[in-house]
Amino acid sequence: MCASPVFKANPDYLQATPSLDGDTDPKKRVYFEVFGCQMNKLDAELMVGTLMENGYSLTENIDEAGVALYVTCSVRQQAENRVISKIGSLKKRKKEDPNFLIGLLGCMAQNQPEETQKKNPHIDVICGTAEFLRLPEILDQARSEGPQMAIDLKKNLTYQRTQNLGPKNFQAFISVMRGCDMVCSFCIVPKTRGKEISKPVTEIVDEAKALADCGVREITLLGQTVNSYGKCLAPGRKIGLQHLLHELNKINGLDRIRFITSHPSFMNDDLIDAMADLEKVCEYLHLPVQSGDDEQLKAMRRGYTVDHYRKVIDKCRQRIPNFRLATDFIVGFPGETDAAFERTCDLLHEMQYQNSFTFKYSPRPDTAAFDLEDDVPEPVKQERNQRLLEIQKEISTKMYAESVGSIDKVLIEGPSQKDPKRYTGRNTAHQIVVFDAPERAEVAEGLVGKILPIQIEASTNLTLFGRLLDTEEKEKTVEACSDHEDASQGGLISPESIQRIDI
Ligand code: SF4
Repeated sequence: MCASPVFKANPDYLQATPSLDGDTDPKKRVYFEVFGCQMNKLDAELMVGTLMENGYSLTENIDEAGVALYVTCSVRQQAENRVISKIGSLKKRKKEDPNFLIGLLGCMAQNQPEETQKKNPHIDVICGTAEFLRLPEILDQARSEGPQMAIDLKKNLTYQRTQNLGPKNFQAFISVMRGCDMVCSFCIVPKTRGKEISKPVTEIVDEAKALADCGVREITLLGQTVNSYGKCLAPGRKIGLQHLLHELNKINGLDRIRFITSHPSFMNDDLIDAMADLEKVCEYLHLPVQSGDDEQLKAMRRGYTVDHYRKVIDKCRQRIPNFRLATDFIVGFPGETDAAFERTCDLLHEMQYQNSFTFKYSPRPDTAAFDLEDDVPEPVKQERNQRLLEIQKEISTKMYAESVGSIDKVLIEGPSQKDPKRYTGRNTAHQIVVFDAPERAEVAEGLVGKILPIQIEASTNLTLFGRLLDTEEKEKTVEACSDHEDASQGGLISPESIQRIDI
């Protein structure tokens, strides 16, 4: 998963798709909203792709749309309420214009399809997490036959992606697996996304090559427990995420490889070695711990102890140069005492996370924890949330300040949303770096998608601020950087020593 904040992503996707053609059949104009995690973002890209192939286009204006689609998240009640209220507000429109189609997709659709349909009879399409590539056909059926439901989780979701429909043409997500075999007691994902299924290595490599050929420089591999990748691929042959990383590292044109979200039970020495040795694999690991208390971890059914987590991180710190760590916490899970919470605070201090994301426990029907008494009062959850935020702020401020004076290689993403005269990008440690853009707009725009050296001059707890090096400084830095990279090659496992995996 893991528990993710809600966001609205449709304007991003509109940037990547052709603008609305005045001649488009109004029935084929789609208004799109996406909630939830990165997996939903990627699913939405695939939906946009299949819709476009079938003559649909996107519109930002729901009044112009013939179809409104909502890709949903079930992790928190609040996220579900927002979508239901948005869909509720379309009742009048649907009554006036029966041709207008409303679709509910993703986890909410998968979770309680019949109940949702019953309560919201004006929804035309309920489509879960495994059938959305049939969307054009399902929409046609909804027009001709009335409301449709497509929620078969056993459907094999296969596709060949040859282009990147994401918001930035130099970055892309790749789903390497779907579903989750874990049984975390607070989580609805195993129900909404089904059992874990990994994609074959060769399919992922082909997809990554096609994306690199289209100009993608950074890929992020997605999976609910991405580091358990491969465990069911070929029984008897031990295939893991590390094998995939070795293959992806060889692809020309790709510069950075990231992966989210990992589970502490599946971090192993080979994977840690791959992170340490492969020059394109970033040194940033998002490893949700959820709590610093063993009793809480047991009640959450996370399958590891704090001590196991600690040992994993010790190994990462010993092996991976400049290792950076992020995590998720849940506060106010049933039975969390003051003492248990203090242990979480202690762990946060001890681990020195670069970033952490804290979520107040929210009971979800159909999870094991739903039967436990939600016994931590809301003000206490709020207080604990605030406390973790404050500790994290202090740690991040110190950690980000340590970068001042260094030169970071930054993948430039574009103008800052707060101040378009400044540009932003990310370094390999996944930190945001902001710098003054060149005055001439065309020069500034030409930087987007490039990896450039930025001298870091200031910092906050969330952002680094720097200066783009001028050509002369850049040349010196590039020389220094390539010297460094050549030196680091010495530590690489030679390609011959890696068994090629064709599945
Ligand atoms: S069940 Fe656990 S491991 Fe699986 S998605 Fe949910 S929180 Fe993550």
